Amino acid sequence: MNAPQEKGPIVGIDLGTTNSLVAVFEHGAPRVLEARGVSILPSVVRYEQDPAAPGGVRPVVGEDAKARAVEFPARTISSAKRLMGRSIDDVRADLPYLGYEVVRGEYGQARARVTLEDGSSREVTPQEVSATILRELRGLAESALGRDVGRAVVTVPAYFDDSQRQATRDAGRLAGLEVVRIVNEPTAAALAYGIGTRADAREGETIAVYDLGGGTFDVSVLRLTPSEGEGGTSFFQVLSTSGDTRLGGDDVDHLLVSLFAREIRGLMGDDGAGEFDLSSFPPATRRALKAFGESVKCRLSEDESASVRIQINEGLVYERVVTRDEFESMITPWVERTLGACGRAMRDAREHLGDGGVDAVILVGGSTRVPLVRQRVGEFFGIEPYTALDPDRVVALGAAVQAGILSGEATGSLLLDVIPLSLGVETAGGAVAKLIVRNSTAPARATEMFSTGVDGQTSIKINVLQGEREMVEDCRSLGVFELSGIPPMPAGIPQLEVEFLVDANGVLRVRAHERRSGKRAGLQVVPNHGLTRDEVERIERESYAHAREDMTRHRIADLITNSSLDLKWIGERLDRFGDKLDRASRDDLQKRIKSVGEMVGRARTDWRSVEPNALHAAKEALDRASVRLQEISISESLRDGER
Ligand code: ADP
Ligand code: MG
Repeated sequence: MNAPQEKGPIVGIDLGTTNSLVAVFEHGAPRVLEARGVSILPSVVRYEQDPAAPGGVRPVVGEDAKARAVEFPARTISSAKRLMGRSIDDVRADLPYLGYEVVRGEYGQARARVTLEDGSSREVTPQEVSATILRELRGLAESALGRDVGRAVVTVPAYFDDSQRQATRDAGRLAGLEVVRIVNEPTAAALAYGIGTRADAREGETIAVYDLGGGTFDVSVLRLTPSEGEGGTSFFQVLSTSGDTRLGGDDVDHLLVSLFAREIRGLMGDDGAGEFDLSSFPPATRRALKAFGESVKCRLSEDESASVRIQINEGLVYERVVTRDEFESMITPWVERTLGACGRAMRDAREHLGDGGVDAVILVGGSTRVPLVRQRVGEFFGIEPYTALDPDRVVALGAAVQAGILSGEATGSLLLDVIPLSLGVETAGGAVAKLIVRNSTAPARATEMFSTGVDGQTSIKINVLQGEREMVEDCRSLGVFELSGIPPMPAGIPQLEVEFLVDANGVLRVRAHERRSGKRAGLQVVPNHGLTRDEVERIERESYAHAREDMTRHRIADLITNSSLDLKWIGERLDRFGDKLDRASRDDLQKRIKSVGEMVGRARTDWRSVEPNALHAAKEALDRASVRLQEISISESLRDGER
């Protein structure tokens, strides 16, 4: 065994104000690690007295500490990141929001004071709190990977100064981790999308990273600058940063909680005169209200409305439905404040950007799941933001990509400018229609028209596929979305336009548009995520090996679909107008319908049992034989129209 392997993998850590995650780069892709059902760890620590623990105090980290913070405010530390490397004077404005005591430590450094169960108190530095979170993440990574972990890449906000960065390194050391690199969070987000990891990184590409988390908002404008000399990797220059350290998803929770609390008080006969004060509720109620607020908010990211039901006391129940519209008008000022900061960041970067905008916008942070945020950010920057990667995970994934680059793991992954595998959608019968063929150069765009195969279909499922084979089961599904709300129409009438767009960074946007109803839906993915060169080669080899068989199978699938539509159409008209045909033609048509129908039936059960040319010939013959019937049907329907 050689030395680097003994040291174990380098993990990537997103040490967040609200939540923290650990990820690793393996088999050509970054992945967030999970152990015992935990992958997103709330950055919250509660201190409990425990004679058996070293120093008599045991920290409880994560979900439990978060959930019970309202109950134990004096010994629960959240948002320790706000204190990292800062003096008590720096953080004075934050103090009212922290809920625990902050005191002056060595050299004026801010530290927290917790009051334990017996009334005694203890001081902890933000480095120690962060170290406790990092130790938990390290343990999580070790359980998930089944090996020791001693090195990490840790992310920090772009605006962190030297002492804040140093404090982060110190926290790592206390947790037994060698921090091999500190990376800016927006840089990590860009790396997660593969920006700057290609051999042909585009010099001067500019990226805005919009990061709206739980309690903080940051926006950064970056520029990709390839380093000189051979083999040099490109790096990201931070052109500007802006934001608000007291703006985040928590504010939205508070808005909802205030709404509920006000209405509950009204329900209880209190007209709410005087200043509204949440602290008049007992801690357990506050905790429940906060949890309700956050869950309503999260549900409204998916659904058009969300309801809460709170049993206040026996016989008194508070029930409330919040609609998306009501919610959006509540949060509009909050969203607009973030855009104000985006405006400042863009102005500050202007001398580098010129008059143009940025080339890409990346959404980071759980709060960017709110649809209004996505929409307004897109409108502000004038481009559709990247949302393909989970906004909670994108920073951790990028930290893992950086770790992969440092350890040499990332070199086997795809760093190409071409689209290595074909991209397409599922069509009737489980076949794949390819829109962008492999080895196309990015950016690439393609559109194709589709329709429905069943009468009265009001929604169409679009399955986005990658691979070289002809059938869905032999390709990789990149994602599925649904276009719904289409008015019922006969099969074949809806006009579904599907557009595929792969941009220069390799992000695929799929858009579906039903032209008659105007309905739209879409999906964004990074097709190359997780693909290695070996895998692409294997997929290519398999496609050659199965080329003949696949072609036949695809042809049969298409023939089944088209023949079925013909059978249905001709059958219906024969029932209505058959008496207007001469006997011999009618018998002939019936015979042909039967034989095509039987072939289709056989092909459906076993595609190998039918020879495609034979089915094709039978279908063509049926079509030819039905010409007279079609003429009759057209003239009859014209006559109907006259009446
Ligand atoms: P941080 O970077 O500050 O650690 P995160 O990026 O983890 O924070 O974001 C946490 C915030 O995201 C919380 O306010 C949480 O309520 C919010 N959030 C998570 N999921 C959703 C969702 N589906 N819809 C709206 N907000 C969400
Ligand atoms: Mg974050």
